[in-house]
Amino acid sequence: MDKAHEVLERVFGYKSFRLHQAAIIETVINGGDALALMPTGGGKSLCYQIPSLVREGTGIVVSPLIALLQDQVDALKEAGVRAAFLNSTLDRREQEAVEWELVGGKLDLLYVAPERLVQERMLGLLGRAKIALFAIDEAHCVSQWGHDFRPEYRQLRILAERFPNIPRIALTATADERTREEIATELSLEGAHRFVASFDRPNIRYTISEAGGSSARDKLWQFITSEHPSDSGIVYCLSRKAVEETAAWLTGKGKRALAYHAGLPADVRRTVQQRFLAEDNLVIVATIAFGMGIDKPDVRFVGHLNLPKSIEAYYQETGRAGRDGEAADAWMAYGLADLIQLRQWIVQSDGSEEFKKVQRQKLDALIGLGEMVNCRRQALLAYFGEIKHEPCGNCDNCLNPPVTIDGTELARKALSAVYRTGQRFGVGYVSDVLLGKAEERIIRNSHDQLAVFGIGKDQDQNTWRGVFRQLTAAGHLTGDTEGHGTLLLTDLARPLLRGETAFRMRAVVKGSPKPAKGRRQPVVLGTGEGADQSLFAILRVVRSRLSQDAKVPPYVICHDRTLVELAQKRPGTLSELQNIIGLGASKISKYGQTFLDALAPHRGDAKSDQTKISAPLKDVETRPEPEAKAANGLSKTVNASLELRAAGLSIDEIAERRGFAASTILGHFAEGIEAGHLEARECVGLEEHEIDEILAAFEGHGTLESGKLGPVHSAFDGRYSYGVLKCLLAELS
Ligand code: ADP
Ligand code: ZN
Repeated sequence: MDKAHEVLERVFGYKSFRLHQAAIIETVINGGDALALMPTGGGKSLCYQIPSLVREGTGIVVSPLIALLQDQVDALKEAGVRAAFLNSTLDRREQEAVEWELVGGKLDLLYVAPERLVQERMLGLLGRAKIALFAIDEAHCVSQWGHDFRPEYRQLRILAERFPNIPRIALTATADERTREEIATELSLEGAHRFVASFDRPNIRYTISEAGGSSARDKLWQFITSEHPSDSGIVYCLSRKAVEETAAWLTGKGKRALAYHAGLPADVRRTVQQRFLAEDNLVIVATIAFGMGIDKPDVRFVGHLNLPKSIEAYYQETGRAGRDGEAADAWMAYGLADLIQLRQWIVQSDGSEEFKKVQRQKLDALIGLGEMVNCRRQALLAYFGEIKHEPCGNCDNCLNPPVTIDGTELARKALSAVYRTGQRFGVGYVSDVLLGKAEERIIRNSHDQLAVFGIGKDQDQNTWRGVFRQLTAAGHLTGDTEGHGTLLLTDLARPLLRGETAFRMRAVVKGSPKPAKGRRQPVVLGTGEGADQSLFAILRVVRSRLSQDAKVPPYVICHDRTLVELAQKRPGTLSELQNIIGLGASKISKYGQTFLDALAPHRGDAKSDQTKISAPLKDVETRPEPEAKAANGLSKTVNASLELRAAGLSIDEIAERRGFAASTILGHFAEGIEAGHLEARECVGLEEHEIDEILAAFEGHGTLESGKLGPVHSAFDGRYSYGVLKCLLAELS
């Protein structure tokens, strides 16, 4: 194990093992078999990577996710590990080169697709190589009951027969008992040590709210802008149409967003995936297919604009957030239409009665999760058989306990209105009757003559929607089988109508809800320091450059946590970098100096040293301008923009990071130019001949004397923005 710790630090740059990692690694290093169940992001990879490095020979990793292989191998190579993969994307020569390395003992890790591994040719090759271990990733693929069943996985038992003395480790994030047993039997791992980690993902904050259609979108927008203005995330919708509309809507609001669904051509889908991996600030709006096999650790939020199909699906989809362990959000909004539609699908599906019953139960469990008023995490874990004794403090219900009221009276009015109108109408119509609206259709049906007409006038439309949704969720109402959205009473409704039972419900919030307590800083940092935020932004740009040069995603260079630590500790030497999480020897030698150079101007301004004021990087937005002058005579907000520019950010990047318009940033530049701190040519991003053209126009219009930019602006038909003109004029003054 000493060796394992040494590898953990030197290669991966981590200080300590997570729960279960040490025990699993020890088992495998000592030649034992293991079955490891850990949630997504739990750290499964190290469980076989470290033993492969410690034991003699090559670790063979079976993985079904081809897209992921490239990624994992790139990440390992970055860390200085001799890793390779074999799959169908390689041509013959490349394959032979890898095979040669394997047999020659030149590989620490080799990733192989399952169908290839069981080919006789491959087995023969393995027989000639020295093998450290076999790791079977995503081992639940062996289960024919699961949704990821792959028949090739069943053939992997051959490994036990052909290589009885080589340790095998199976890993999965699928929790349930039946799958676990199937893995053990199908892979001949009955004797393996079992390790079951908690399925809690404490860094994910669960938030579920009610809203359908366009109001759900508005809520999503509010959520993204307040919590994740410059983060990557995934938003799931049920239909392709909703995916495309939502992506277009977000784009229209100025957010970088792309649509992804199975109906798009393969090359478009590939591009979307690649961009998602490579970019820092991109929202993917997708049907559930997106995310499978995408191992991006810094997805900061997963949103749902509809209910998923089950708690398992919800857990899996939300689990794609925050794999790196940093704060992340699982956010969902759903409405009455979702409930009705999903129930509808079950009824209409051509599965057996038994199948439908199971599906109904699963949906009800999910609805229960949505409507509950207690800790959501407790309920989620309980569903997977895990007891958590204390409320979590990191879900919406814990942070902002909902108010419940006695809704019996409201419920009875709502149910009688459904009954009196003949169970032939949807929520809109019935609400209108309750509200006493003299709509044409209502009058034609003589429903304005009913006793229920107008008995709900004291409430608003929104409240009635909430009542109908909660009654539907609780099973008192259901949709019609044809899917017209007609509300029908169920047997449960009768005692409530007769006044024999009571109905407690969540108070329906009027207007927009107040923001939850205990909100975090939008950025992953959580330190709340303006200083660290801009430095973090600078480091993010540095990382993004390194990643472009190395042709790998930014998180392969290092994780956000590493940047946070760099921004906080601001190391000054290569040896100090060893104390930064995630920087092992190989990365320090490759990128260490670049990070040190980026940090150099900010040293001596470390966070602990609060008394020392270095003007440019402090929080500037919140303070009034007059006293916010720095030593160079410019305001702090101007300095903050200049600082980011000096770090190499483009105008658009600075505008995005600081939440200002590009014209404002150009205005800051103009002040800097006027004060002689930079030159216009360096920052307006124009060609020399364009600058000449503008200067000539200034002369022609007497701009220097008048100081008025309007005439020149219109002379060019607005081709050059006021900001750009201002910068050039500043240089002349
Ligand atoms: P899984 O495969 O279980 O979803 P990964 O193996 O991808 O999870 O690990 C999730 C993240 O946690 C990775 O970014 C990994 O680098 C990080 N990680 C794993 N083990 C440790 C550890 N002991 N200390 C710090 N970070 C770790
Ligand atoms: Zn909670």
